[in-house]
Amino acid sequence: MNAVPIATDARRTAGPSSDPVVSLRGLSMDFRAGGLLSRQVVHALRSVELDIFRGEIVALVGESGSGKSTIARCVARLQRPTAGSILLDGVDVLRSERRRASRSYRSKVQMVFQDPFGSLNPVHRVEYILERAVRVHGRPRGQREIRARLEELMQTVNLPIELLHSYPHELSGGQRQRIAIARALALEPTVILADEPTSMLDVSVRIGVLNLMRRLRDEQGISILYITHDLASARYVADRTIVMFAGELVEGGESLDLMANPAHPYTQLLLSAVPDPTRIGTFDPEERTRLRAAVLDAADCPFDGDPDQECSRTDPVRHVVGDDTHHWVRCHLYRPEADVATRALTVDADADD
Ligand code: ADP
Ligand code: MG
Repeated sequence: MNAVPIATDARRTAGPSSDPVVSLRGLSMDFRAGGLLSRQVVHALRSVELDIFRGEIVALVGESGSGKSTIARCVARLQRPTAGSILLDGVDVLRSERRRASRSYRSKVQMVFQDPFGSLNPVHRVEYILERAVRVHGRPRGQREIRARLEELMQTVNLPIELLHSYPHELSGGQRQRIAIARALALEPTVILADEPTSMLDVSVRIGVLNLMRRLRDEQGISILYITHDLASARYVADRTIVMFAGELVEGGESLDLMANPAHPYTQLLLSAVPDPTRIGTFDPEERTRLRAAVLDAADCPFDGDPDQECSRTDPVRHVVGDDTHHWVRCHLYRPEADVATRALTVDADADD
């Protein structure tokens, strides 16, 4: 009988709504590794529970291969999860398969990819690319209204209107990523899934894209899932940060608090590998390898060998860290005393059925 975590993603207090825009419940994704006949399975997502609220930026951080993009692809419905549900404004989208519902879903949830070079069709001018997105949105518009909308989109992403006449190859990486964001905005999304949107950009233009995301949150109330392996940028831009490790969400909290008081050994590892927290940069790979081995060595875990608590046998549930109800961690190290442990942090998997 496994305890399953329930959502303890407390919401920051600002904002008009306390209902989540997107909720992931028990989202799991298995891939068959090594071809069709192989029995080896990669558990890319293990029972992921996540709420994203209106008008907040949530950073999803973790090393390459931890499952970040798989979450985004499932939420964008580019991939069907093996198990679990995805709720958009409370509606279970995997069960409401009807075409129309899924079309409106696709416009509400927009994805911005890492590679601004690959994501824009090179044979079309920017104007065409954006206009098509505006038309796909479905509202009938006249030519003049569409033109006004295109200009508004260019203004929103801080690009000169003349660039509407350019081809993607005539733009810089940063400008292209802004066009990709403008195209997403053309569909008037409630949620943007930004999968490493700045990692292929020059350091000098990254900050501009991060500031643009903040502006979309503040001025339009858009919710953003910001996927990155760069903790410094997560701290800069995200209200909350969620740490992902090997297909699981292991820690979450308000970004500043989480980075100041990381609870999970893996979060501590990621943070210790950021050479300078005030700079937006990447990890030193050698140091990361060394620290990673240290964290993953079960001998370092005080619960290793304890038949009741061993991580590999008993999934940890979410525990609140300290007095901060917004900050949680999934690690046996934070298990409260027995009487407190049942304090609504867990529910019985069996009782749920
Ligand atoms: P991240 O975005 O954090 O780098 P991914 O979500 O891309 O991680 O991948 C998570 C895990 O799932 C990795 O082990 C990856 O190899 C595996 N994976 C992702 N997509 C596929 C796929 N289509 N087929 C098989 N394995 C996959
Ligand atoms: Mg990825």
